[in-house]
Amino acid sequence: MKKYAELAIIVPCFNEEEVLASSIKTLNKIYDDLIKEELISPASKIVFVNDGSKDKTWHIIENAHKKQPHIKGICLSRNFGHQEALLAGLYNTDADIYITIDADLQDDPAVIKNMVKEYYKGNEVVYGVRNKRDTDSFFKRNTALWFYKIMKILGVELVSNHADFRLLSRRAVNAMGEFKEKNLFLRAIVPLIGFQSANVYYDRKKREAGTTKYPLKKMVLFALKGISSFSAVPLHFITLSGILISILSFFLMFWTIFAYFNNSTIVGWASLMSVITFFSGITILFMGIIGEYIASIFIEVKNRPTYIIDKKLD
Ligand code: UDP
Ligand code: MG
Repeated sequence: MKKYAELAIIVPCFNEEEVLASSIKTLNKIYDDLIKEELISPASKIVFVNDGSKDKTWHIIENAHKKQPHIKGICLSRNFGHQEALLAGLYNTDADIYITIDADLQDDPAVIKNMVKEYYKGNEVVYGVRNKRDTDSFFKRNTALWFYKIMKILGVELVSNHADFRLLSRRAVNAMGEFKEKNLFLRAIVPLIGFQSANVYYDRKKREAGTTKYPLKKMVLFALKGISSFSAVPLHFITLSGILISILSFFLMFWTIFAYFNNSTIVGWASLMSVITFFSGITILFMGIIGEYIASIFIEVKNRPTYIIDKKLD
């Protein structure tokens, strides 16, 4: 039996040359402290997953690995996406506990220590939760708030203000592997794993260098993916609206027949136009929602690999 748990810190990186050197330094300091305090085994590691970066990211990881063997690297064959890079790191690293954190270290790495302590208290999942959102733009803060509200209405359990900064035990990672879906929205999958869990709180900082890898378009697609792969409520909503609209049109039909016999059909142009445009709009919207689900099914059915590894630094 090992005395202390072996920790793997998993860091997804996509074009992060501007922050990587400083992030490695900060993480190394935390890593050394944890070993000194005998909270983790000296066999612990920091694993950088290069998600198809076009800049010097992999070069920096390789150099760091040469000098410090506890730094490992996984290089994906192209850009697969943040969630995919996280999974590549989790499923291809051997450890007792895993902590995932973004390369820009906006999520305070100082609470890694608290996460590890929570693990020793018996928690298999420890969520990093942000205290306040004052470092975010007004826009991002409000869209995030609405996103959590809507997800709640749609019946998807999420930990509010928690992104992908979390600790998972080996058992939790294995359990996650049982979720075979390709539509990855990890923050909704993790609560479904169950096990004893805890939260640790921190203040999120501004990105120090480089730019966000989540522009608006990616953010919206990510939110849609979260909804269409975790909630069937929009589909039920369509069915219900369909029933209501059918009842409504039934009465409308009576009204039309009545109007016909009263010889007042010519004046109805405006109302007819509004009814047509209204229902065409609704029809297209609902087809779009159904389309979102078909898109999800389309992706699942193909069962393509989530990620492909090019090389590894062990
Ligand atoms: N990332 C990635 N692949 C991508 C996009 C992002 O591995 O296709 C990584 C990125 O390097 C960072 C993390 O995901 O470590 C979160 O990205 P970012 O900090 O840009 O997002 P934000 O904090 O702005 O939401
Ligand atoms: Mg960031």
